[in-house]
Amino acid sequence: AKAPVNVTVTGAAGQIGYALLFRIASGQLLGADTPVRLRLLEIPQAIKAAEGTAMELDDCAFPLLAGVDIYDDPRKAFDGVNVALLVGARPRTKGMERRDLLEANGGIFGPQGAAINDGAADDVRVLVVGNPANTNALIAQAHAPDIPADRFTAMTRLDHNRALSQLAAKLNVSVSDIKKLTIWGNHSATQYPDIFHAEVNGRSAVEAVNDEEWLRDTFIPTVAKRGAAIIEARGASSAASAANAAIDHVYDWVNGTPEGDWTSVALPSDGSYGVPEGLVSSFPVVSRNGSWEIVQGLEINEFSRERIDASVRELEEEREAVRALGLI
Ligand code: NDP
Repeated sequence: AKAPVNVTVTGAAGQIGYALLFRIASGQLLGADTPVRLRLLEIPQAIKAAEGTAMELDDCAFPLLAGVDIYDDPRKAFDGVNVALLVGARPRTKGMERRDLLEANGGIFGPQGAAINDGAADDVRVLVVGNPANTNALIAQAHAPDIPADRFTAMTRLDHNRALSQLAAKLNVSVSDIKKLTIWGNHSATQYPDIFHAEVNGRSAVEAVNDEEWLRDTFIPTVAKRGAAIIEARGASSAASAANAAIDHVYDWVNGTPEGDWTSVALPSDGSYGVPEGLVSSFPVVSRNGSWEIVQGLEINEFSRERIDASVRELEEEREAVRALGLI
């Protein structure tokens, strides 16, 4: 039998954590033949709630679950970690300045990055879900100089899945008929969902849509503002869909993306498509042999260029701000 894979989840007692842990333990994160050991990190006030979730995990009697440990110390939680899902973050509250938000998250993701640097297994893969996810990933990565930078990623898969679903509804096709959609830039309202390279049953999605006004005034804002629309409808932010996207992200990272398609991941830029090196920005990517590779050679038209540049500019501003605060 395979040795268990150590999966650390931060913010384990939160909404996303609750939707995520049971799916990990059931085998959906890594596959039905891979046992997992869950390591939950929480802040001291939330340890009791995490213990409650661990009791429920026990009660599921998942055959693949090799154990659940709960910590309030990142050094212990990340010791030997293979897959780190950084979900817990300081949310922006009403009236909070960006500076305070970045500072609070620097206090979380800096020490977590350092603990991953010192304790993680050689094959560690990190996915940041907690917002501002791209810049939180940048902070963690900057504190982990001994780990290849491309092991630090931030999640734009939920945006990618939202875009797939919106486009499929517009064209009255199944989501599985659509390939090669891309989310570029920051996981924020400036993100750019790009359908210019997308295919619907093998033909151009833009030609199938044939409606630039819909693309500009409906599709892009609907995808970018979907999080707010969920809060408005549900009275709480999306949790199950965010957890689902985290599962998709790690599953593809480990098992590869299907031939003839790609997905979207925010990862440290190598300078591709004019995105300044080191910025954690979303790109079209494939997963091969356990690593993400940015899809190269796509032609970027003026419509896309403008929007990619705007989102990248926002990421540069966030990087400047965390530099000025001494967080990286
Ligand atoms: P959630 O579980 O709902 O969300 C956690 C994080 O995911 C938030 O930063 C949230 O950002 C982000 N997120 C990213 N994408 C999405 C999305 N599409 N939809 C919704 N959220 C998204 O938050 P809870 O408040 O329920 O739980 C957070 C938990 O984290 C708490 O239990 C807290 O104790 C814990 N925590 C743990 C830390 C640690 O382990 N060191 C540090 C800080 C907190 P946004 O707020 O912008 O929606």
